[in-house]
This record gives sequence, C-alpha cells and structure tokens, in this order.
Amino acid sequence: MSNPQTEQWQTLSRQHHLAPFTDYQALNRKGARIITKASGVYLWDSEGHKILDGMAGLWCVNVGYGREELVEAAAAQMRELPYYNLFFQTAHPPALELAQEIAQLAPEGLDHVFFTGSGSEANDTVLRMVRHYWATLGQPDKQVVIGRWNGYHGSTIAGASLGGMKGMHAQGGLPIPGIEHIDQPYWYGEGGDMTPEDFGVWAAEQLEKKILDVGEGRVAAFIAEPIQGAGGVIVPPDSYWPKVREILAKYDILFVADEVICGFGRTGEWFGSQYYDLKPDLMPIAKGLTSGYIPMGGVVVHERVVKVLDRGGEFAHGFTYSGHPVAAAVALANIRLLKREGIVTQVKTQTAPYLQQRWRELAEHPLVGEARGVGLVAAIELVKNKETRERYSGLEVGMRCREHCFANGLVMRAVGDTMIIAPPLVINKEEIDELIDKARTCLDLTVREVSGKG
Ligand code: PMP
Repeated sequence: MSNPQTEQWQTLSRQHHLAPFTDYQALNRKGARIITKASGVYLWDSEGHKILDGMAGLWCVNVGYGREELVEAAAAQMRELPYYNLFFQTAHPPALELAQEIAQLAPEGLDHVFFTGSGSEANDTVLRMVRHYWATLGQPDKQVVIGRWNGYHGSTIAGASLGGMKGMHAQGGLPIPGIEHIDQPYWYGEGGDMTPEDFGVWAAEQLEKKILDVGEGRVAAFIAEPIQGAGGVIVPPDSYWPKVREILAKYDILFVADEVICGFGRTGEWFGSQYYDLKPDLMPIAKGLTSGYIPMGGVVVHERVVKVLDRGGEFAHGFTYSGHPVAAAVALANIRLLKREGIVTQVKTQTAPYLQQRWRELAEHPLVGEARGVGLVAAIELVKNKETRERYSGLEVGMRCREHCFANGLVMRAVGDTMIIAPPLVINKEEIDELIDKARTCLDLTVREVSGKG
C-alpha cells in the first residue's frame, strides 16, 4: 500500500462500520477498498488506481460523476429551503415541479408521484398502496402480491418480501404473509431444453397459474422488474412480456413495474415499461432519478389508481423525507441535464447498439456461455462447458473474475457466476472499447486460474 491513510480507513471500517450486504469477517480479513473520488465514468481509490465504473455505482450514476449543475442545484436549494415536509396539507415547489416532470416522461396515464427516500421505501409504499386501493374499492380480501423468485425490490421487510432472494428470506423469517412468488424468465439458467420463445411463454403462464391458485379475489397485484437487475440482468425472452400482458388483461389485478434500475434511460427509453410496451398501474423509481447524487425514490401512480385513492380517506403512510426539497431539486437538475444533452436518445441510437454489439463478442471467449443485454445493461454467463451450460462448481468463478476486474481497473459485478455491467449512460465508444478490452483480459485471467479445476 502506498497511501498510509488507506490502512487507517480500513481500520475505521473494522472498528466502527457495518457495511450493507457484507460478510464482516471476510471484509475484515481483507480490508475495504476505499473509493475517494470520481469523474465521468471513472473512480479513483485511495491508492490512486483509476477504475472504469462499469456499474454506475449501484446502477444509478446515469449522468456520470462530477456534474457541477447537480451540485449547484443542491446548494441553491439548501440556501432557499433546505427542508420542509409534504405532510399536513403543505407542499414546496421542487417536489411539485418534479412530480410534473416525471408525469410528463412516464407512460401515459401515470400522472401522479408519491415520493420516498429510496427504492425499498418505494416498494413498501407499493405494498401499502395496492392493499389500500382494494380496500377502498370494497375488496379488502385482495391483499396478496405476486412477485418472482430472484426478483429484487429492496431490503426493507416489504421490499425483501416482494423480492425473491432466498438468501434474504432465510434471515429473519421472510417473506411476510400475503406475498407469493413465481418462477423467473431466466432462460439460460432455467430454460432447460425449451427454446427461449417457449420458455418465455411458460414463465409467463406461471403468473396465471398462481392467480388461479391463490384466487383472483385475493390477488392485489403482480410486481416485476422489466429486466431483473440484481438477480443477474435477466433479460426475458421476447415472448414473455406480451404473454404476461395478455394474462394481466384477463384478471382484475394491478401491475407494478419496478423501474428502479430501468428508469431514467437505462434501456434507451425513459422507462423500461416503454421499451417493453408495458402498461403498469404503479412504477417504483429511484437510482437514476437523481443519478445517485442524493437519495430519493418514489412511486409513479396511474390516474385510474389515483381516482380510487382519492375516495379512500387518509392514506396513512409517508416519510419525513418524502419529496425532500434538496433531493427534488437535484432530481429536477438531473432530468433537465438528461434531456438537454439528449442522453437517453444517445443511448438508444449510439452507445447501446455499440455496447451490445461489442459485448456479444465476449460470447466467443471460452469461459462465456451467453452474452446478453439491452440498452446499457448487460450480462455474461461464466461456464465450464458451453454446450451443456455446466458451471465450475465450488470455485466461485464470478468472484474471482470480479477480483481480476478490480485489480485491472474495471468494476464489474458478480451475481454467482454471472458477470454484469450497467455503466453510466454517458459512457462513450472509446470507453466502451476500454470496458470490453478489460473484461476480456479479466476473463483470460480467470479462465487461466480455474481451467482444469472444479
Ligand atoms: N428495486 C430494484 C429493481 C432495485 O434494483 C433496487 C436496488 N438495487 C431496489 C428496488 C431498492 O432500492 P434501494 O436500494 O434504493 O432501497
């Protein structure tokens, strides 16, 4: 280590910090990597290493790092009105202007926003709102929300319950009652001998099966990410969403499209729902809403739901920081910047086609069983045998690859043996070339390490 401060920070981490989603013993043995600054699509650690951030932080820094106008927006709002709440029949301009801005970008009819502090809080809000909706309609038995195995909707009690991460459920007795899960449309991992097309239909039909099992009269909603992010960038087969839409049209249940990752340009459209032509009733958002510069989330709600909520008396739900004025001001500046620089169109017409084309070249690598993606989000499956899709067992190939990436100046995330990326939306072609070159180098290093083993 060249910087003595690195060790001091690592000591502070051991002594005083409990990190999210972390095995504490493992981290303490190794020491945390300390990230100290960032600019554009690059991070720097405390040792002076420059790292290409292939994950845009946690899928959130859509406009890239170092955007002065977001800083200015926060400072100006802090001077003007650093805090006030939206309770007790008060409001403030930034929250209202932001709600209008989001309504204008969202699919038709999604014209109201309930603000939260995060994506998890957005999904807690979803659960309470859909139950309140049905109770207001005189159908209080419609309480059950159907999610998907390996879906991710946050880490609060409701968020983790709606999500289908078995490891999360195992800690603390989740899911809470009234939440059911169906299989995910993960063709590469679970499609067996079916064609992607047939598997997509099969996975969609699990929704209908579950609605019938639970009873339509007890189902409040179905929640799903347009593309599952944290589950490993599961891009559904083309047949999946059309079939789900067909099923949703048959039954009187609400549809919640969790746009926390897909929202604000990730797919080359403003929302994943526009990419897949989905018609959600509710859309949780966060992350790209502020490009991660400050925490904020929300639920965008369709007018047909709002009409019912209007009759429901007090909706007894809200957060101190719902619509926080500084966060709202940053979100507004972020959206204006996305629009002014035409970043979403640029993703759609320039960088996404380029990234996806180059990313698919990785499928030729001996370690890669599949390369997939949409917009600026993508995944590769690391396998021992491309034909049979057999994995390297017990070798933690994904983690090894991730370590090589870090050591070679690239952040790529491992979900088991699936490597995923979601770079800032401002990444240019040269930086995409760099990302691909580095990914290939790290795949080479990984395969060298594991071949002949596992
Ligand atoms: N929904 C989805 C689809 C997410 O990806 C995430 C975060 N990765 C969340 C919800 C939860 O958001 P937060 O971490 O802001 O609570």
